[in-house]
Amino acid sequence: MTQILNGKEVSESIIASLTEKIKTMSVQPGLAVILVGDNPASQVYVGSKKRTCEKMGMASFEYLLPASTTENELITVITTLNNDPKVHGILLQLPLPKGLDSDKMLGLISAKKDVDGFHPESVGKLLQGLPTFKSCTPFGVMEILKYYGISPEGKHVVIIGRSNIVGKPLAAMMITESATVTICHSKTKNLSDICKQADILCAAIGRPNFVTADMIKPGAVVIDVGINRIEDPTTEKGYKIVGDVDYAQVAPIASAITPVPGGIGPMTIAMLMANTVFSAEHA
Ligand code: NDP
Repeated sequence: MTQILNGKEVSESIIASLTEKIKTMSVQPGLAVILVGDNPASQVYVGSKKRTCEKMGMASFEYLLPASTTENELITVITTLNNDPKVHGILLQLPLPKGLDSDKMLGLISAKKDVDGFHPESVGKLLQGLPTFKSCTPFGVMEILKYYGISPEGKHVVIIGRSNIVGKPLAAMMITESATVTICHSKTKNLSDICKQADILCAAIGRPNFVTADMIKPGAVVIDVGINRIEDPTTEKGYKIVGDVDYAQVAPIASAITPVPGGIGPMTIAMLMANTVFSAEHA
């Protein structure tokens, strides 16, 4: 029987234990979210982060700025939040409107409040295996494996995708947990053969149903990070969300698999909250 790795259940358990922890803390953790412009998907994410914060007893600070916001205005907001002791985490919702340089703006967020784990200081510490903020999505992958007692130690982990927010930090976390790691990307030769050697296969590509049954070693653990919207006239909205893995084909071969939706997606927000609590504890 294939085990379904239920990210909704795991994230709820993490949020419940963080909520208990917050009750015992002398400082109330605070998360500030900055949203520039009116991207509807970003508005949904920001709203859900705010609700989660409030449900957990954390302070939530929302900065909804117009798309016309200038670089200097955004820098002023970031600097104010960097200096505000009530704020332990600052999240700049991406993408930013054209004309604002994401890397530059992210680099201005204090490394002490970098709950997204994107700051070069956090990334450097992560590579060294030191305690730090960890990029939330790969952190969520590690936590879901831990919850289900799947240890990466000694396993061959193949990661498809080398982005700074998923593939690369996930590789660093897997190495720290003593996995043998192979990272693949769009220039990789014999991708299918490499994937077939994986004990744990992690797909973070951004292509619907890219990973097919012939790429899977029977009994492998399959982690699907992808979130892709595809047309589906049979649904009310006219689309549905699928992962990077062809779930119907792959699930029967895998020993364990994350569904999409309901797998890694809900883990990301839980790990953001974990990073904010970590920040408040170390303030
Ligand atoms: P990026 O576009 O930044 O990176 C995609 C990676 O996939 C790149 O390294 C790219 O290679 C590689 N790739 C693309 N095409 C191929 C191919 N044909 N063969 C092999 N490798 C390929 O994406 P992200 O890392 O930001 O996101 C990946 C997916 O995860 C997306 O679906 C995204 O929506 C989802 N995601 C989900 C999150 C969650 O909360 N669950 C959070 C973040 C992302 P190359 O570097 O050579 O171009």
